[in-house]
Amino acid sequence: MKNTEKNSKKNTQGNITAALAQIRQRIADAEHRFNRDTGSVQLLAVSKTRPVSDIRAAINAGQSCFAENYLQEAIGKIINLNNAQVDWHFIGSIQSNKTRDIAQYFHWAHTIDRVKVARRLSELRPEHLPPLNVCLQINISGEKSKSGIEPHELKQLADDCVSLPNIRLRGLMAMPAQVSDFERQRVPFGQMRRLLSELQNEYPRLDTLSMGTTNDLEAAIAEGATMVRVGTAIFGARNYQ
Ligand SMILES: *Cc1c(COP(=O)(O)O)cnc(C)c1O
Repeated sequence: MKNTEKNSKKNTQGNITAALAQIRQRIADAEHRFNRDTGSVQLLAVSKTRPVSDIRAAINAGQSCFAENYLQEAIGKIINLNNAQVDWHFIGSIQSNKTRDIAQYFHWAHTIDRVKVARRLSELRPEHLPPLNVCLQINISGEKSKSGIEPHELKQLADDCVSLPNIRLRGLMAMPAQVSDFERQRVPFGQMRRLLSELQNEYPRLDTLSMGTTNDLEAAIAEGATMVRVGTAIFGARNYQ
């Protein structure tokens, strides 16, 4: 290896290690500030568009949960890394023709918005694996362009999902419209907290609110996020979405 290459590898490791330390501190500060239990918010590293070398650097820095949006890209990385310590979360939109691979390669799928997809994931989950953990995606800002169900559709989809044997309903996920003002960021996250809380009356074992990204994780944690999905703050700006 040339020296320049070595240095750039070292930089990648140094940058990602430092960025992860910073983001963990942001999470810890928010837990403290909003009276959340220490360690109650899990960090998912969103590694979409990032090379395997970045993921390796994050693993070296103690990160074990990664989230991906693009299925073929993700499977390439999962096979390449071949690391049983890593938990893989699918956070991209799910068409029926993707369900076989998601059921085979992932531990979690956050973006369930149709019973047909849930049914197929359950049917296609390999027998030797535990049930696939799933979240139902809510289009909480009501944006036409976004996937996810409307809040009034939630009860029915949840009822349909809990009866499926090889998926395990864990909670809700959302990606609200991006705004910069903290109090405005809190509004949709607060709606998510109430939706989960209502659903917990019927299904008390639901334990997951997947919400909050680089720009709004503090507001999400204030409103009860148990998983934040952070890409940019760990790996830097992406060239494409
Ligand atoms: C890309 C993405 C993220 C991460 O966003 P950042 O702003 O890079 O932290 C989180 N959730 C979903 C669904 C995404 O597509």
